Amino acid sequence: MKKIKNYINGELIAPISNQYIDNYNPATGEIYSHVPDSDERDIAMAVAAAEKAFPKWSVTPVEERSQLLMRVSQLIEQNRDKLALAESIDNGKPVWLAKSVDIPRAASNFHFFATAIIHFASEAHIMADTAINYTLRQPIGIAGCISPWNLPLYLFTWKIAPALAAGNCVVGKPSEITPMTAYMLSELCIEAGMPPGVLNIVHGYGHKAGAAISAHPKIPVITFTGSTRTGAEIAKTAAPTFKKLSLEMGGKNPNLIFADCNYEEMLQTTLRSSFSNQGEICLCGSRLFVERPLYEKFRDDFVARTKKLKVGDPLLEDGNLGAVVSMAHLEKILSYIELAKQEGGTILCGGKPVKFEDRCKHGWFVEPAVIEGLTYDCRTNQEEIFGPVVTIMPFDTEEEILQFANSTPYGLAATIWTENLTRAHRLANAIQSGIIWINCWMLRDLRTPFGGMKNSGLGREGGLEALRFFTEPKNVCLKLKK
Ligand code: NAD
Repeated sequence: MKKIKNYINGELIAPISNQYIDNYNPATGEIYSHVPDSDERDIAMAVAAAEKAFPKWSVTPVEERSQLLMRVSQLIEQNRDKLALAESIDNGKPVWLAKSVDIPRAASNFHFFATAIIHFASEAHIMADTAINYTLRQPIGIAGCISPWNLPLYLFTWKIAPALAAGNCVVGKPSEITPMTAYMLSELCIEAGMPPGVLNIVHGYGHKAGAAISAHPKIPVITFTGSTRTGAEIAKTAAPTFKKLSLEMGGKNPNLIFADCNYEEMLQTTLRSSFSNQGEICLCGSRLFVERPLYEKFRDDFVARTKKLKVGDPLLEDGNLGAVVSMAHLEKILSYIELAKQEGGTILCGGKPVKFEDRCKHGWFVEPAVIEGLTYDCRTNQEEIFGPVVTIMPFDTEEEILQFANSTPYGLAATIWTENLTRAHRLANAIQSGIIWINCWMLRDLRTPFGGMKNSGLGREGGLEALRFFTEPKNVCLKLKK
């Protein structure tokens, strides 16, 4: 059985403990590879390698850094099919989705930051004829990059590409649940000629390898994507050493659907924003608020279309949803379906495990669920489920919908469907979330600031925000007068 290796100092090596974690294929429920169970000793080794590489990498001309990142991007492109298959087997997502979204986006992350760094500039502040201030933006040192399981290579590269482009060395830790494509990336980085120690990828549990990154005194900057609970844990561990943090965390995103919307486009997109990637995208809209005159029509059409979605073997091209990532996650999703019933909700469709007779008979599949009859403030509508489960609720006024939308502790994304653009802008201004989509969803420009408010995030990534995050600004003031 395949043993994944750590990538430290340019080499693929076993964890010091020689212990491994079982890695499951969610579609079959079978163990298919082993993941290093690394601990603080492996992290210390990776930090030492990064420390050694930093003096040279941090002064490598940006053009050279850019060319290397472009090579990595090209290798990801060239290996798209292989990487997509690996992502699908590791995560349970349909292979067509990994091929069309995850892997191309991982390649664009490298491509984007390889070019962005060439155009990155810093500020100057002129004090008439008295003095000139200019801001140096220097690489910080070793960046810790910790990523989740839902978009494995996509989110891992979203962190390491800007960190490397800005001249930092990296100690990265992908999710122990979906480590395979990060391992394959380490092989591609060797092929691309990445200097030893510049990028190190250490696999293992969050509470061991991840916590060792948050606690390490020689890692001054950490970017994390994952649950709000883990984000809080990292912030607590990192506080005594004053690390710079970017935390991208959970969400409970509202869709605000007005009766005047472009109905067919809204319906199709809402289906995607509810159930893409089995609802395991932090940006999925899980609370659908529908203006009352449209409510019944929407409910009937949406339920009818949801019932037509096919849950199936992720390796087949005709499925809409694959497997959810783990048995524990399947149980969590099912427990929320039970909670919704206890809270007075009606399950209009779905919410049951799907059983197959073929190679997927032990896999973790669930039917996409639509629930109505719940209040906006019940637990089902306040807590993140992170699966193919949405609730639908009617609303009457703008004041009411704003209260519903802003009622959760989260503030990641919101989607507004209306042809009344004055109203759309008014609501966009008032909704507490870092990302607002009007008449669309998941339309992403990598230059825009990305992140959440409230319990969804601290800081922003994307575009220049990311390059600013991964550099230390230093003001230099030069007096002009004698
Ligand atoms: P998670 O918090 O369990 O794990 C994320 C990563 O943190 C993993 O690599 C894990 O090993 C590591 N980790 C766990 N405990 C740690 C600790 N004590 N110290 C350091 N690292 C630790 O999250 P998950 O279940 O993998 O991912 C799902 C969550 O991610 C959802 O809440 C989802 O909303 C969120 N998410 C957010 C965004 C965003 O951009 N805001 C994007 C994708 C996913």
